Amino acid sequence: MAGDLTVAWLRTCAEVVSRERAWLTELDAAIGDGDHGINLDRGFAAVVATLPGPGAPASGADLLSTAGRTILGSVGGASGALYGRALLRAGSRLSAGGGQDRDAALVAAVLGDAIDGIIALGRAQPGDKTMLDALVPAHAVLLSSAESGAPLLDSLEACADAAWSGALTTVPLIARKGRASYLGERSVGHLDPGAASSSLILRSLADAAALVVQRE
Ligand code: ADP
Ligand code: MG
Repeated sequence: MAGDLTVAWLRTCAEVVSRERAWLTELDAAIGDGDHGINLDRGFAAVVATLPGPGAPASGADLLSTAGRTILGSVGGASGALYGRALLRAGSRLSAGGGQDRDAALVAAVLGDAIDGIIALGRAQPGDKTMLDALVPAHAVLLSSAESGAPLLDSLEACADAAWSGALTTVPLIARKGRASYLGERSVGHLDPGAASSSLILRSLADAAALVVQRE
């Protein structure tokens, strides 16, 4: 059924963010204001409340757009605006591409547009110690894997691994954007909370796909 990967992904995100809420908050307490886990948990819980029940028909594109509006309305801080914008862009791209959320090339294009939305709003680049340090390399891996014709599940696994490797690269970096940038060199030695949450979100996508997509 079209849209069921999107539903499973958003549900998995909510579970994982809730489980890792204290970790995300701790990371943000070290170089920010300690609200990242709390904010995202509230946001994804609100998103879950918008999802259709099991077996109900769903448009992945509409669900992503609704999730974007819900995150914008319920998550404070930089990440609420950035993830909200990213989800709105993702919904538009999925819709324009035909809505098939199991098409690896389309999923790669959707993630690419979501990242473009984050860059357009936040004006950060990879290396600035933000969520982009997880998302940009993850997208590059997903794109090349999808272009090589790899199955969706393998592509999403590689994407999730690249996101975590990318998140880890933020540890030695000096933050140049967002609240952590106020710390200057004192931001060195800490994992960026947004890179950590982006990594969880892309791990959730691979895990959700493993649940709903039959391996060919
Ligand atoms: P706030 O800093 O407003 O409290 P959060 O704690 O929810 O917001 O989110 C902080 C995360 O947002 C950072 O760890 C970083 O990854 C991300 N972030 C902040 N500013 C930017 C930006 N301009 N571009 C991309 N990501 C950003
Ligand atoms: Mg914060």
